[in-house]
Amino acid sequence: MQIIIAPYSGFCFGVKKAIAKAEEMIKTDNVSFASLGPLIHNPQEIKRLEKKGIIPRESINDIVESKILIRTHGVSPAIYKQLEEKQMEIIDSTCPYVRKVQKIVYEYANKDYTILILGNEKHPEVQGILGWSLGKGLAFRNLEEILTKDLNAKKLCLVAQTTENTETFTKVVDYLQSKYPDLIVHNTICSATLERQKSALELAQKVNLMIVVGGLNSANTQKLAHLCHEAGVSTKHIETAEKIEKSWFYDVDSVGVTAGASTPDWIIEEVVRKMEEIKNPEEIQITEETQTTKEIQSAEEGAQTQEQLEQNISNYGEVQQGDTLTGKVVQIKTDEILVDVGGKSEGIIPVNELSYRKINDPNDFVKIGDEFPVLVLKVENSEGNMILSKRRAEQEKALAELELAFQNGTIIEAEVVEVVKGGVLVDVGMRGFVPASLLERGFIENLEQFIGQKLKFKVIELNQEDRKAVLSRKAILDEEYEANKEKVWNEIKEGETLKGTVQRLTDFGAFIDLGGVDGLLHVSEMGWGRVSHPRDVVTEGDEIQVYVLGVDKKNERISLGLKQLTPSPWELAVKKYLPGTTLTGKVVRIAPFGVFVEVEPGIDGLVHISQLSWDRVDKPEDVVKVGQEVEAKVLDVDAEKKRMSLSIKEITEKPVKEKLEYVAIETHQNNEPSGVTIGDVVGDIFSKLNNKE
Ligand code: SF4
Repeated sequence: MQIIIAPYSGFCFGVKKAIAKAEEMIKTDNVSFASLGPLIHNPQEIKRLEKKGIIPRESINDIVESKILIRTHGVSPAIYKQLEEKQMEIIDSTCPYVRKVQKIVYEYANKDYTILILGNEKHPEVQGILGWSLGKGLAFRNLEEILTKDLNAKKLCLVAQTTENTETFTKVVDYLQSKYPDLIVHNTICSATLERQKSALELAQKVNLMIVVGGLNSANTQKLAHLCHEAGVSTKHIETAEKIEKSWFYDVDSVGVTAGASTPDWIIEEVVRKMEEIKNPEEIQITEETQTTKEIQSAEEGAQTQEQLEQNISNYGEVQQGDTLTGKVVQIKTDEILVDVGGKSEGIIPVNELSYRKINDPNDFVKIGDEFPVLVLKVENSEGNMILSKRRAEQEKALAELELAFQNGTIIEAEVVEVVKGGVLVDVGMRGFVPASLLERGFIENLEQFIGQKLKFKVIELNQEDRKAVLSRKAILDEEYEANKEKVWNEIKEGETLKGTVQRLTDFGAFIDLGGVDGLLHVSEMGWGRVSHPRDVVTEGDEIQVYVLGVDKKNERISLGLKQLTPSPWELAVKKYLPGTTLTGKVVRIAPFGVFVEVEPGIDGLVHISQLSWDRVDKPEDVVKVGQEVEAKVLDVDAEKKRMSLSIKEITEKPVKEKLEYVAIETHQNNEPSGVTIGDVVGDIFSKLNNKE
């Protein structure tokens, strides 16, 4: 009996990674941690991991550990929130394929799409995805079920559980697309699933019996068993070797073995060993169906295969290497895209031939049903498929367009896709290089800011042979600058208000780009009040209105103002500060003849030295300091000359000495009769003083 193991079977990349991560953590931290639900759908492997310290917990409330591992199925945002609230350390092992579905669903739910999820609503992966769909998700099992749903939403987006069956998905897509032409389709069935399904099916067609190994609760293993059964071969789904029965192998001369994505190698090995024991070992041949065995089999079936290939080639007509055909995408795999080019076999675009851009997921570049030109790299490979390139077909077209743009100096638009040493790469249907110095007129600190931007360029170098194109954006900006410059000089007038962009700040002002010409906005013209530094008023990149104070065409100088666009505070000062009123201000400058007090931004009043105090003042700084707040009485306001006179001494009391002098003078002036004694005079002075009080 021959035992053949399917080339793609057992642990998938996502599960392998999750288990390796969990085991590594146990080894490093030596602390048990919880997994939310069993880490994988395989009871035997779960038991093994539990012994090591990875404890499956059914709900968050059951968790007693401080760390939690999120399994490959992922969880909903609500679960993340609950775990955070419990302040648990999260080890997130959500499979990247599942994460991608969650992202798609979240993106479209946010755009108000109804999300159709082909999958099992009860499966944890689908429950997580439903959580990301913000209440707009609808899970269904198959075409029959979706037919019963009332889909009256205009915006529909379809995804699939990662382990879904491709055939079911295709049927659903065909139906929904015929009814809803605007349907957005994302084939999110993971490649591990597709590979396992495909290789199980291929194997099922060659053997008398298929043994499908894996958890009875594992969705992807169940699907493998279902597919094999549907292919018409006797199929047994078992979890472990103990379940194997001798009777299965009567009259069986070849048996195929496949396993779900959550089945560890050690269980597959046990199953194979058990089958070896059942039959006489000499009679058993174990084959791991690798590429080599496939090739051997192909050679055995040589005649027919050759015939088939020839038939395929004839179907393609006179197709030759280097021809360009039109291909329609029929399947998207991680490493290749299958396209229909009109022959019996499908053409293959290896993923690196899809685009010259960095490809993380081919689904980001093409979708099922897309049609585009493809270049024939090989008319047929060993399996009769054409090998095609999308990017080279685009490159040929792009080169022709670039040549035209180069010759005529025309402007082309392209998206910046990558930062590389010395510049950026742009998408011009092929890679185009823009040196950093030719991307802007000035120095650029961060090239990353341009990624994703569609900009205009000129082709300045083109090498058809090496397929290299160098582009410049600066060439266009320079031309625009020169054209604008002339326009500005011709049109600019004193007294007008213009829009400009703050280009550069200095200590004495800001240079404003008026669209090709820079004008100077001096710091003294920025506000009616005192401005310490231009940065207090404007920032580089600001778009502002400016007032043209002066234009000197000969010396190419333009002076600008900002404060002129707001009313002068002096216009209101006459009504606001009447003589005799008291105000508070700050001493801003001291001069030998007095001090300047800022009454409000733009209005400084002068307190003359004689108005500082009733006492004699030699130097103003003996009385006040710069920055001091003072009270003063308004003596006079001259708005035209922008002058205000203030007095500090007027709001303070006259000292006794001053009063005495005043009374003495008064007394003397009254010409008191002679014979009055000094005592009478003093008495009189005090009585007058009292009255003065
Ligand atoms: S089956 Fe696919 S989606 Fe699921 S864990 Fe494995 S790689 Fe990820």
